Amino acid sequence: MQIGKYQLEEINAGSLSLDGGAMFGVVPKTLWQRSNPADELNRVALKTRSLLVRSESKIILVDTGIGNNWDEKFCRIYGVEEQNLELISSLKENGIAREDVTDVLLTHLHFDHTGGSVIFSNGKYEPAFPNAKYHVQKRHFELAINPTEKDKASFIKDRFNPLIENNMLKFIDGEAEFDDNISFVVSNGHTNSMQLVKVSDGTKTLLYSADLFPFASHIPLPYIMAYDINPLITLSDKKRILSKAIEEEWILFFEHDPEIVAATVSQNLHGYGIDKVFEVLPE
Ligand SMILES: [Zn+2]
Repeated sequence: MQIGKYQLEEINAGSLSLDGGAMFGVVPKTLWQRSNPADELNRVALKTRSLLVRSESKIILVDTGIGNNWDEKFCRIYGVEEQNLELISSLKENGIAREDVTDVLLTHLHFDHTGGSVIFSNGKYEPAFPNAKYHVQKRHFELAINPTEKDKASFIKDRFNPLIENNMLKFIDGEAEFDDNISFVVSNGHTNSMQLVKVSDGTKTLLYSADLFPFASHIPLPYIMAYDINPLITLSDKKRILSKAIEEEWILFFEHDPEIVAATVSQNLHGYGIDKVFEVLPE
């Protein structure tokens, strides 16, 4: 898919399983299990889907997925493969080596979004993209290094500390523009200062919606994750972004949906819902 000077491609960066109740908050299982069937441990399947955004001069990766080199207990809890190299192999299929990536835009530093930012080599974690700058919101970083008791299980420091130690982290302050086609939309519901990535040329817009709409089934307003630190802010951000997305015909990109890569949205008497579904990015 082409937007402005950028070519966009989905990148498979792995998968995990999370508790279905936590993924859907107050919505009862009788409703969510229709779109997201649970396994015998009541977990639902998630993809970690990155977005590759490339022009002649830049190779940009949005989020880095679950990553690899997880221990046995972690793999058991989250249904993760210990050695998951899907991010690197998916990039390779697109002709991209780790050294080629110029920028990594991290929506936030939860382990399923920044896990692949590092690789385990010679007994320690090192930046996976040695020539890249990694961009994250400053206020989000401050929470990540000093999380609350509610969200500290989501921040695993060896998945982002090597970026600090190697001086590769660049801080963004609020809803800034990255360049004339890429800008950041900040949401404070899921965590402090999560940055959604908007790619637009003024006519065509794609929003990488991160954990504001992890699955296509999170479009209806009451579907809000129990992980969120400020669910009422998530609610008002969903309204703000959905009305804009309808007005300007945005394509929403889903990082975690097991099947649906992206969709447009619509509104009727019952509220917001999916309009057009894409199982691969449209041309
Ligand atoms: Zn998250």
